[in-house]
Amino acid sequence: RSQSNGSSEYSVEIPTIKFTKLFVNGKFVDSTSGKTFETIDPRNGEVIAKIAEGDKEDVDLAVKAAREAFDHGPWPRLPGSERGRILMKFAELIDENVEELAILDSIDAGKLFSTGKIIDIPQAANTVRYYAGAADKIHGEVLKMSREFHGYTLREPIGVVGHIIPWNFPSTMFVAKVSPALAAGCTMIVKPAEQTPLSALFYAHLAKLAGIPDGVLNVITGFGPTAGGAISSHMDIDMVSFTGSTDVGREIMQAAAKSNLKTVSLELGGKSPLVIFDDADVEMASSLALIGILYNKGEICVSSSRVLVQEGIYDEFTKKLKEKMEAWAVGDPFDPKVQQGPQVDKRQFEKIQSYIEHGKREGATLLTGGKPLGNKGYYIQPTVFADVKDDMLIAQDEIFGPVMALMKFKTIEEAIQRANNTRYGLAAGIITKDLNVANTVSRSIRAGIIWINCYFAFDRDCPYGGYKQSGFGRDFGMDALYKYLQVKSIATPLYNS
Ligand code: ADP
Repeated sequence: RSQSNGSSEYSVEIPTIKFTKLFVNGKFVDSTSGKTFETIDPRNGEVIAKIAEGDKEDVDLAVKAAREAFDHGPWPRLPGSERGRILMKFAELIDENVEELAILDSIDAGKLFSTGKIIDIPQAANTVRYYAGAADKIHGEVLKMSREFHGYTLREPIGVVGHIIPWNFPSTMFVAKVSPALAAGCTMIVKPAEQTPLSALFYAHLAKLAGIPDGVLNVITGFGPTAGGAISSHMDIDMVSFTGSTDVGREIMQAAAKSNLKTVSLELGGKSPLVIFDDADVEMASSLALIGILYNKGEICVSSSRVLVQEGIYDEFTKKLKEKMEAWAVGDPFDPKVQQGPQVDKRQFEKIQSYIEHGKREGATLLTGGKPLGNKGYYIQPTVFADVKDDMLIAQDEIFGPVMALMKFKTIEEAIQRANNTRYGLAAGIITKDLNVANTVSRSIRAGIIWINCYFAFDRDCPYGGYKQSGFGRDFGMDALYKYLQVKSIATPLYNS
């Protein structure tokens, strides 16, 4: 495993950080208190930059700007096609800055630079384009009223939105929240995670260059309980759209209920099962399981953290998976040969290790991995526990790291029952050649996303969100656009001769 520090030895020039202040009403400003916090490079634990620490007063200023922009500004009143044109420009600017944005997410979150450059950032631009194309296709319905009335519905922007986003996909989540809300005509305050504030501020700069009017898109960097709490309990925010842990989702919903009953959408944790049947191609199945748990170092809410394998192929599968896990390259995310970078921060690094220790104590078999790597940075070996029982903590809790729980099953009924034996319901994978089995299992699993003979088939056209304690409301697809719109019914009497 190799590592670099600061300027990269992998021919990537790390730029100076341009944006470190709050973005309020179209300007970069210090926080009211003047406080800052450090954002840390998980490759080595060093400080990248000091970032303005927003708190309640700053959220108030941002809400004031967003409220004014919503109530009196041009954005919600523009023809959809005009908002679409500005969003297209925003997408173009993202494309022009792919390399710099990918670097920011790599140093802030430990994400692979190659993946950021090829996938996260270009797809972020495409997500903006998707909603740019939808901005002039927002309309209601004419109603067939049961009395002599002409009735119709309007879809109107919900108002001022607070987006509270996590650190694992800083760019993907930023655009997933912001673009449909912008297309809908909303104005907003974004609170990026304290671990990864850098790219959000860069996007704010690009949004301004694209022509998004002042006050429409504000970014408040800062901590969860303070800046995030001020958003979820604000009396003048109409909706909070959150992605993060189930525990924090619960707090946000409570704060929303206790304040002004703002609309809430929550995309929370997962413990997604990947169910592999005897007729599966073991080579393909083991590769999907591997990617399913190791992509983005397991810091992804839809990771295949529970893998259920039917008994006929279990031994062969386990052998292949172990070989692949041990050949997986962990190291500096700028190294093009590396497949897994460091965990996002020290807290996450320690939390994952404590789950690994717990798994050992609970009596699961450590098949491979289980240790941190290197003497600096937050690297963890790809880890698999076999013989995991459903009631073990490592089978129930979201670990959010490269740690898989492997289980053996006999029948389809058992597979369905155990796949559903979780408080979460975000995603599930099914690998089988039998269409009837695939269809039966996909209907029987209570989860918002099912992947058959594939995994992580993400697409901006594909609504994304949870059942059960994985939350409610959808990101991506047209469902996400409708989330930021509310329906108004209008009725007027018809002339009655
Ligand atoms: P994790 O525990 O994996 O870091 P969180 O759910 O804590 O994930 O964080 C997701 C986002 O929620 C971050 O932007 C974080 O600052 C924010 N957050 C954390 N606690 C609160 C809270 N009490 N109220 C509002 N937002 C919060």
